[in-house]
Amino acid sequence: MGCDAANPREKATMRKPLRCHLSLHSWRKVSTEDGSGQFRRCRRCGKEQEPADPPHWSAGGGG
Ligand SMILES: [Zn+2]
Repeated sequence: MGCDAANPREKATMRKPLRCHLSLHSWRKVSTEDGSGQFRRCRRCGKEQEPADPPHWSAGGGG
């Protein structure tokens, strides 16, 4: 038996911004090195999104 100084509820905190956590990524259009294609990348967390995204991408939780 001993005193627990450390917090047992300490969990690994995700380094993802709050907005990104809410799927509110700040998409920024960037082109590939070759320039043949383009895709979106979040300038906050760096998440890349495929160019062919569904029209109803607002709903649903991905992760
Ligand atoms: Zn993001």
